[in-house]
Amino acid sequence: MVNVILLGAPGAGKGTQAKRLVEKYGIPQISTGDILREAVRNGTPLGLQAGPLMSAGKLVPDDLVVGIVRERLKQADCGAGFLLDGFPRTVPQAEALERALAEMGRVVDAVVELEVPADLIRARVLGRRSCPSCGAVYHLTDSPPSQPGICDRDGTALITRDDDRPEKVEKRLSEFAALTRSLSPWFDARGLLRRVDGTGSPEGVFRSVVQVLEGGR
Ligand code: AMP
Repeated sequence: MVNVILLGAPGAGKGTQAKRLVEKYGIPQISTGDILREAVRNGTPLGLQAGPLMSAGKLVPDDLVVGIVRERLKQADCGAGFLLDGFPRTVPQAEALERALAEMGRVVDAVVELEVPADLIRARVLGRRSCPSCGAVYHLTDSPPSQPGICDRDGTALITRDDDRPEKVEKRLSEFAALTRSLSPWFDARGLLRRVDGTGSPEGVFRSVVQVLEGGR
């Protein structure tokens, strides 16, 4: 069983690394950001509550995201493990996760923190373009689509996610710094934290992530 949490600022590469880990270990990726965006697209009650906060670059309340994750972890595909991406973002979320897992007789195996300096984060997030239809993510220079502005998978016109706009990016980065900085020490105190340099290529970072995961067993 592989129960992993990916930590890192918005744009640190959590989504990219998560997709690779999912393939390698056959575990589902649980991204609270993706689940919330889908709820917004579908106009569900959750989406209506979360949407305005998300487009303002603010965090969604802990009880909402904790509820999402609790339900998700009960699904059968989490039997072989899970990969959490974008959750927990606060210490109360981490505590709630610990309680939820304990009720299921499970624990977190490792928390991988992708470390990327703020200037590089800005460059990555500002160049990011997303497909509003399938959720695929591109970068203007690092991983452009084959046809500019068009999704390779389904031909939809790419957009800049509302919360990837410059004014929102600064807000998300400062929220990340304020709230999440306390998370690393919290996991470190439990002997779970594995720091990985997130500045290299996606392949290079992935090799380091796998190394710390497998080296730690
Ligand atoms: P992400 O795709 O992980 O950057 O998430 C996009 C947005 O969804 C965030 O800026 C928050 O508004 C919201 N969100 C996602 N995950 C969480 C979380 N664990 N706690 C609070 N808000 C979240």
